[in-house]
Amino acid sequence: MTNETSTAPAPKASTTGSPTTHCQACGEQALDGFYSLPKVPVHSCLMVASKEAAVEFPAGKLDLAVCTSCGFIQNRAYDPSLQNYSPDYEETQGFSGTFRKFQTQLCQDQVARYGLGDKLMLEIGCGKGEFLTELCEISGGRGIGIDPGYRPERNDSEAAERIEFRNEFYAPGHASLRADYIACRHTLEHIGDVREFMNTVAESVAGRDDAILFFELPGTERILEERAFWDLYYEHCSYFTLGSLARLFRRHGFELVDLYKGYEDQYLLIEAKTGDPTKGRTFDAEGDLAATLASVQSFKSAIEEKFRGLRADLDEAASRGPVVLWGSGSKAVSYLTTLGIGDQVHSVVDINPHKHGKFLAGTGHEIIAPEALQDIQPAHVLIMNPIYVDEITRDIHAMGLSPSIAAL
Ligand SMILES: [Zn+2]
Repeated sequence: MTNETSTAPAPKASTTGSPTTHCQACGEQALDGFYSLPKVPVHSCLMVASKEAAVEFPAGKLDLAVCTSCGFIQNRAYDPSLQNYSPDYEETQGFSGTFRKFQTQLCQDQVARYGLGDKLMLEIGCGKGEFLTELCEISGGRGIGIDPGYRPERNDSEAAERIEFRNEFYAPGHASLRADYIACRHTLEHIGDVREFMNTVAESVAGRDDAILFFELPGTERILEERAFWDLYYEHCSYFTLGSLARLFRRHGFELVDLYKGYEDQYLLIEAKTGDPTKGRTFDAEGDLAATLASVQSFKSAIEEKFRGLRADLDEAASRGPVVLWGSGSKAVSYLTTLGIGDQVHSVVDINPHKHGKFLAGTGHEIIAPEALQDIQPAHVLIMNPIYVDEITRDIHAMGLSPSIAAL
């Protein structure tokens, strides 16, 4: 894979060929398909400069299957060659106060638990480097950050001097990096070949008895229970529950230190160490396989009804005046493209100034600044992530606006 810097990937046909027949996490041929969309944008966080390019954005197929052996869920039709992560990739949530607070708390917890001041910390998929930088600020330690989307001009922390950032993908060659602490946040869900990735991580700490791993990623339990299809998209080719994540780490020889959820139960967090996978703590959530398989079946039978309900809600709101979405990330792209929404939604608000004036992949809705709402006078604001309702409602009222407000 390469580190290109174009605004959007060069259009190319989806040549996914025959779908994967084995589980990318455990290797078993035990896949059961349950959710399929023929055409979804291959990226939902890349900024697109024109409406035309946004509408013609390259698409791929979503074909989700659950492994009945380990509970892992994957997009069988995923083709990594269609993905182009570059500095234009705007994944950062650092502009939200709620997210910043969560991240700071996490950093403080990690430093308190593992005393990282004298350790070399490696972050795989560090994005713009906010987490690793804060870890180094709080602990005084040193770090290595790996991500093709890192942008040095956005990092003005004094701690950045102690961090070596590499604009590249984590790959088997990185197994030679001997870090004491490996963080990997919101990255594993983008990895197709999960086993190869975990083999590299395991190799990099082979023979060590004190290396710590800290992974964070979206949880799939809530997505299935709430039929939250807007959290299913092409960039996320791999979906875990607490149980399937724990099983993955044990299979790769790690001992579990902690297994829990955070950010109002939206994220899975796992802490593990080199050791004996048959020893250490065990967690109730590790027994979730039957519940996951049942939840998948329930999602499959109820999803069409979910689509109908949301389309009816939107029709009602649009009859009262302009409707805007708040939050232009992957949830918005998936919500709009999956339901096939056009003019019923006026535009999409985002507080990230780097996104203003750009367009959403797939439907081509324009991304606007919150201040633009004063001209639009929306009748309804649909918030893409319920965790931001209080923060956003305050912002809307502070502008003197009083639309109806709801969250997905
Ligand atoms: Zn499996």
